[in-house]
Amino acid sequence: MIRFEQVTKRYPDGTTAVDDLSFEVAEGELVTLVGPSGCGKTTTMMMVNRLIEPTSGRIYVDGADIAAVDPVRLRRRIGYVIQQVGLFPHRTVLDNTATVPALVGWKRARARARAAELLDLVGLDPKTYGSRYPEQLSGGQRQRVGVARALAADPPVLLMDEPFGAVDPVVRERLQNEFLNLQRTVRKTVLMVTHDIEEAVRLGDRVAVYGQGRIEQFDTPGAVLGTP
Ligand code: ADP
Ligand code: ADP
Repeated sequence: MIRFEQVTKRYPDGTTAVDDLSFEVAEGELVTLVGPSGCGKTTTMMMVNRLIEPTSGRIYVDGADIAAVDPVRLRRRIGYVIQQVGLFPHRTVLDNTATVPALVGWKRARARARAAELLDLVGLDPKTYGSRYPEQLSGGQRQRVGVARALAADPPVLLMDEPFGAVDPVVRERLQNEFLNLQRTVRKTVLMVTHDIEEAVRLGDRVAVYGQGRIEQFDTPGAVLGTP
């Protein structure tokens, strides 16, 4: 579903963030990218939706070389969740969640019905929370809205950058569990960046362990932990 072929990213200042990277993620697979800060995880992920262009190499999503796909069209098929969720402060939770379906041309009623369904799925009763504004939610609830929004237009691919990083450990564990349950139902192809090895092995079907600009190990959680 996602394939990197000898991808290198060198920034204009000469930093090689990603060095000759090749890997594949299967359809419906959740791969966690783990490693210390600055080793190229975010750069890897942002090349998938063309927010960053590789210096060399090729990236395929669903069989298509993304260099030939219009970035706007590409991003409609890729949900994106980041740590600072970036909800629109002057829009209600329901309208925030309906943003992408509305953008891709769904009728308003259908977009809103879908948004309500997704809020329900991430554990926020749309009747209670749909009409609230982001500032009226806790951090954990905002993060759930971020996940609901990313899933609303039903993209096959989901990119997540430290999605549970901004909340306290207890809430974090609850969000992780909820997300695992959700993933069992929706089965997206997921790339998730984290610096937390525990999170990586807990959530990943496979784990990509990064060193400087490279993946040093790409294997199941058991193999990464050394317990077959
Ligand atoms: P990670 O997500 O693992 O923390 P990043 O992909 O953000 O790593 O960064 C990888 C390397 O590329 C780091 O050395 C970082 O400083 C550098 N880098 C990231 N973005 C830029 C940029 N826009 N310009 C120059 N260097 C960058
Ligand atoms: P969560 O597990 O969703 O992060 P928290 O433990 O942070 O929940 O918050 C518990 C409850 O307190 C939530 O149901 C939420 O409605 C409420 N709450 C937390 N922060 C705020 C806030 N800034 N404004 C309004 N309600 C809040």
